[in-house]
Amino acid sequence: MANSEADTIAAISTPVGEGGISIVRISGDDAIKVAQRVYQGKNLEKVASHTINYGHIIDPDTKQEVDEVMVSVMRAPHTYTREDVIEINCHGGLLATNRILQLVLSYGARMAEPGEFTKRAFLNGRIDLSQSEAVMDLIRAKTDKSMKVALNQLDGDLSRLIRHLRKDILDVLAQVEVNIDYPEYDDVEEMTTKMLKEKATDIQQRIHSLLKTAKQGKVLREGLATAIIGRPNVGKSSLLNALLHEDKAIVTNVAGTTRDVIEEYVNVNGVPLKLIDTAGIRDTADTVEKIGVERSRKALDAADLVLLLIDNSAPLTAEDEKLLAATKDKQRIVILNKTDLPSQLDLDRLKELVGDAALIETSIVKHEGMDQLGAQISHMFFDQGIESSQNNVMVTNARHIGLLHQANDALSDVLKGIADGMPVDLVQIDMTRCWDLLGEITGDSYQDELLDQLFSQFCLGK
Ligand code: GDP
Ligand code: ZN
Repeated sequence: MANSEADTIAAISTPVGEGGISIVRISGDDAIKVAQRVYQGKNLEKVASHTINYGHIIDPDTKQEVDEVMVSVMRAPHTYTREDVIEINCHGGLLATNRILQLVLSYGARMAEPGEFTKRAFLNGRIDLSQSEAVMDLIRAKTDKSMKVALNQLDGDLSRLIRHLRKDILDVLAQVEVNIDYPEYDDVEEMTTKMLKEKATDIQQRIHSLLKTAKQGKVLREGLATAIIGRPNVGKSSLLNALLHEDKAIVTNVAGTTRDVIEEYVNVNGVPLKLIDTAGIRDTADTVEKIGVERSRKALDAADLVLLLIDNSAPLTAEDEKLLAATKDKQRIVILNKTDLPSQLDLDRLKELVGDAALIETSIVKHEGMDQLGAQISHMFFDQGIESSQNNVMVTNARHIGLLHQANDALSDVLKGIADGMPVDLVQIDMTRCWDLLGEITGDSYQDELLDQLFSQFCLGK
């Protein structure tokens, strides 16, 4: 039998192996009935909504006690899914939790698909698409700032903005209809195109400013790929350690790969840096020569941000100059390190080579200049600061970004059509397309396929 939206579904909704309590969540018309079948305590079908009830899970077959539990009963519609929801808080560890899930599945529920709870919340109108995607972002959020952006999206800031855009487009389209149907003036055609042009330009501008936030959003979500480069002995390892030390770095060992691609994240003034090739920086003992320019070049290709170290206590070398030249077109910060030692380098020459890029002086061993470095990194990516940015809305989701680009293209077609003197009803088609595309962001117009693909990305039990 195929899975249906009418089924009562269940899953473990707490991360496996984390925390002392785990929760089995059940949602659907039969949620309470199913729980009652395996529960001994008060009659759950009689208790008030939004109550927590002490009792035991008993295997109805063997009459054996499985776990001591607290059962939350939440009746529709004021629940996460807007259906009846039961949450069984188990204490007996993973084994007991699994056992309870199995019992619930044997007594009338079916296993939830990944993301199905959230999908129901969406289908039942409790949250919109961009909000449900925000749930996913929240799970992955790596720093406080990205947490904040995700939370705002959850509140629907982005949705509000998009709906506003769509309403304005709809107003234009309606106005165009009126003008065409009731031509009271001779120059109605001209007036109509003029209005269309103004509105399309205005809406395109608003989409542009949303897209501008996308770059920052990507950084917040995925980390800014950062390469620390410089010739041997300039202080790369020292800088790495200083960054790691300050932040208690999150180290993720990418599954199924060797230690070479350990990814390390540090949070510098709210910017999550994903440090590239830290293994290469770390194993310095016998490979000093190898770590030079060649290795740096590789790291360079993958980097969004380059931290290029120069040694203040030695003259500029040809290698330094090569690296400065190779990073010319990158977002980069040049770090003049070892300022505690007497300067041996031609500062004017260095400044000339650095050009417009930031030049920060540090003594990593004395822990000087690290604040300036942090401020510079943060400045480069949050020019006006997230707090002060418009409504705190930031587009962080690849699907949203793609749709905004398409909507933007549709508007360009509108403007081009007008410029080429196309008939208004053809221009209208592109405007309507823009309206549709924006609707896909909030799910106001959506396709089933998209939904399934989207929600299957969720962790089980969410
Ligand atoms: P790497 O080869 O680029 O990774 O350089 P390291 O971080 O291994 O540093 C090489 C040497 O320079 C070590 O002995 C560090 O202690 C020293 N060093 C790093 N930063 C500074 C600094 O700011 N001042 C001084 N005096 N020494 C430093
Ligand atoms: Zn080193």
